[in-house]
Amino acid sequence: MSNKLDLKATGALLMEADSIIMCCHVSPDCDTLGSALGLMLYLQKQGKKVEVYVDDVVNSSFNFLPGIEQVKHPEPEQIYTADLFVVIDSSSFDRIGICNTVIKAPKLLNIDHHISNTEFAEYLYLDAKAAAVGEIMVDLFVECGWEMDKAIAENFYTAISTDCGSFRYSNTTPKTMRTGAILLEKGVNPNEISENLGLNTKETLEKLAKVLPSLSFAYEGKVAYMSLPNEIYDKNVSTETFVSYPRYIEGVDVGIFFKEVEPGKTRVSMRSYKTDVAAIAVRFDGGGHIRAAGCTVMAGIEEAREQVLAVIGEMLAD
Ligand code: AMP
Ligand code: MN
Ligand code: MN
Repeated sequence: MSNKLDLKATGALLMEADSIIMCCHVSPDCDTLGSALGLMLYLQKQGKKVEVYVDDVVNSSFNFLPGIEQVKHPEPEQIYTADLFVVIDSSSFDRIGICNTVIKAPKLLNIDHHISNTEFAEYLYLDAKAAAVGEIMVDLFVECGWEMDKAIAENFYTAISTDCGSFRYSNTTPKTMRTGAILLEKGVNPNEISENLGLNTKETLEKLAKVLPSLSFAYEGKVAYMSLPNEIYDKNVSTETFVSYPRYIEGVDVGIFFKEVEPGKTRVSMRSYKTDVAAIAVRFDGGGHIRAAGCTVMAGIEEAREQVLAVIGEMLAD
């Protein structure tokens, strides 16, 4: 069990540390990155030594995030130390790759918004109603009276936009919108962020063209899925948006994207209207939110598909 902190105590824990290492989850998205980078930029201005680590490839389409050039990758043989270790946007300690063994600090803080949080950290700030950790970051800055410059605000706005689908998904609350407004007042241009987020590489579109023919349906059309087998997997090509294709189809409740990242290892992304996909992901040691969740199944793509579809069959909402 974690010690649950409020925003003031979270701010105090950050302020009392002279050196801080933050880390983002694997398959990093702009919520984990933008939240970490915005906080990093502020804490560095306070004279602290702050580093951000990610044990994964960072998509080059995220290069527009201010401070992204400072992101580091951990080496397996090294040990990294600081006064405080902060894990961002991760519901479990195995979501951060080798960062969970190579980073050592006397205090561990987790800032998260996943309903499936496993309380792995000594200190936890969790708000499962927040659309993104970016929204929590703005709460933290407002509560602690910390000044946000444009670069920090751009990071937090991108973080929020990513997780709430540019203020379209069901996790968008009146508060999410008000938080967006605060960030616009700090100089963020929403068109610039959405243009950056919406930009695809040629390689992503070419990959999509190969994956779209795999579109299949199950359970009388309530489930739709697409598959990317290992033979055509390329870790440098972003497929983050692919799950939206099976999801946005008339009559479909659950949309799934299967991606075989290594032979015998399949990443699963799920989105839904009604069914609790976080509960399905948890059955495979994954997690997420009720309408957006993921897991990794240690099986080839066909076997993974069978296993996940069987559990979905049990748990499909009426
Ligand atoms: P994704 O489908 O990868 O975009 O993930 C959807 C949501 O589920 C995000 O909030 C992820 O952080 C979360 N998620 C994905 N995979 C996992 C996992 N293996 N364990 C815990 N949470 C996950
Ligand atoms: Mn995330
Ligand atoms: Mn998030």
